[in-house]
Amino acid sequence: MDCIFCNIIERKAKAEIIFENEKIISFLDINPIHLGHILVVPKMHCIDFLSIPEEYLNPLIQVTKIVTDAMVKSLKPDGYNLFSNNGNAAGQSIYHFHMHITPRYFNDEIKFKLNLKQYREAEMKDFAEKIRREVRS
Ligand code: AMP
Ligand code: ZN
Repeated sequence: MDCIFCNIIERKAKAEIIFENEKIISFLDINPIHLGHILVVPKMHCIDFLSIPEEYLNPLIQVTKIVTDAMVKSLKPDGYNLFSNNGNAAGQSIYHFHMHITPRYFNDEIKFKLNLKQYREAEMKDFAEKIRREVRS
């Protein structure tokens, strides 16, 4: 398996590392939506959000906050997006989980092209029930 993010973690590939600790690394996206776009990555090869081991979840969100805070203080964007693409249909291109953090600016012309749906009568309740049946806390 050749994974570019594993190679960055193992220093076999170059990256502009922003911060790392025992479990998480964060570095600049090589092809940014805006300059300063950061990726936050578990130091364990896991394909997507649902395959992240439990003990990596809190560190992941903690490092996401640390580097988002640093990005906001240093670049002073008008806002920022946090997002993660999971699966081919969702636009994932690197199959090692990563959180994107990108600065945003007023009038930056970046739009997530949405085609919003509407629930038909009772459909919202049906969807909620279907999902609730599978909730395991
Ligand atoms: P996604 O499409 O959500 O899987 O995002 C993958 C991201 O990884 C893209 O935004 C790429 O620009 C970024 N990327 C790919 N290769 C590298 C690399 N060597 N260093 C930093 N970022 C990378
Ligand atoms: Zn990997």
